[in-house]
Amino acid sequence: MLKNKPKKAKYLVGVDLGGTTIITVVTDIHGKVIASVKCLSEVKEGVKAVINRIVDTIYATVAKAKLQIDEVLTIGIGAPGPLSTKTGIIIDAPNLDGWVNVPLRDLVKKAFNQKIPVFLENDANAAAYGEFWIGTGKNVSTLIILTLGTGIGGGIIIDKKLYRGPDDTAGELGHISVFPNGPVCNCGNNGCLEAIASATGMVNRAVDALRLGRRSLIRDLAEHDLNRVTAKMIYQAVLKGDKLAKDIMQETGRYIGIAAASLVNIFNPEMIVFSGGMINAGDYLLDPIRDEVKKRAFPQPAKRVKILPAKLGENAGAIGAAGIAYCELKQD
Ligand SMILES: [Zn+2]
Repeated sequence: MLKNKPKKAKYLVGVDLGGTTIITVVTDIHGKVIASVKCLSEVKEGVKAVINRIVDTIYATVAKAKLQIDEVLTIGIGAPGPLSTKTGIIIDAPNLDGWVNVPLRDLVKKAFNQKIPVFLENDANAAAYGEFWIGTGKNVSTLIILTLGTGIGGGIIIDKKLYRGPDDTAGELGHISVFPNGPVCNCGNNGCLEAIASATGMVNRAVDALRLGRRSLIRDLAEHDLNRVTAKMIYQAVLKGDKLAKDIMQETGRYIGIAAASLVNIFNPEMIVFSGGMINAGDYLLDPIRDEVKKRAFPQPAKRVKILPAKLGENAGAIGAAGIAYCELKQD
């Protein structure tokens, strides 16, 4: 496929399609971002409108990079799943307002007259690949990435390759059970890491404690309306030395650490990288994770593994999608 492209095609496009925003980047083949554009996805307008928006944004980003569209070697799209990387179809995406069986890859390919190869990847895997390619995980071969936000996503890179599993469902690290009778998770299981230690899970635990009458600055930050408590408020209260906020943050880190210790024993990774909004809490969150890993995992892999924050921020998914598409193209 490479030889069919015009010689001057040497840039990559990466798209991160989310339920709220679409982030598009143009990079060189080493992952250096030349231009990026962010817009709202407006998924409620339907599949056709969103595909048009993706295509328009790709043109806009290429123009911003002062390039022509025929200089684009390949397009990678990271999207919420479940999806199939083999067929390029989004099977059923609750985060995209219920898209069912949408052949996203082929629709985008058609919009560029079949001239540019397009690859579809799971969004969490794309973000993981971005961190591995040019972020915190650069120069390591085996790493695990956990994205801590409203939910908890994951990605597994083994010997420099993304591990997808036969059904593209590997890496659902937010759904490791850590508490047998814990709260019900979005997936239907009880006590998944996501249900307890995501931003949502952390807020729920804080609100439960406040309802029981615990005194805390969090209550003031939420102006005494417990429906308004956010993960950010918990972090702000931690910085001011609030006891409950510190307990909640520490407990969150402990649960994540329980899962991380198992991952260390299973994969012997060189690194576990944490991304997402919650890492703004820095070592307040990462230190209890490190302690738990030290306490629970086998000594040798526990000593090797580095537990670090991600570097790329919100562009990780788009950059990773570009990198995966380039990788797939080279394998064709
Ligand atoms: Zn779950």
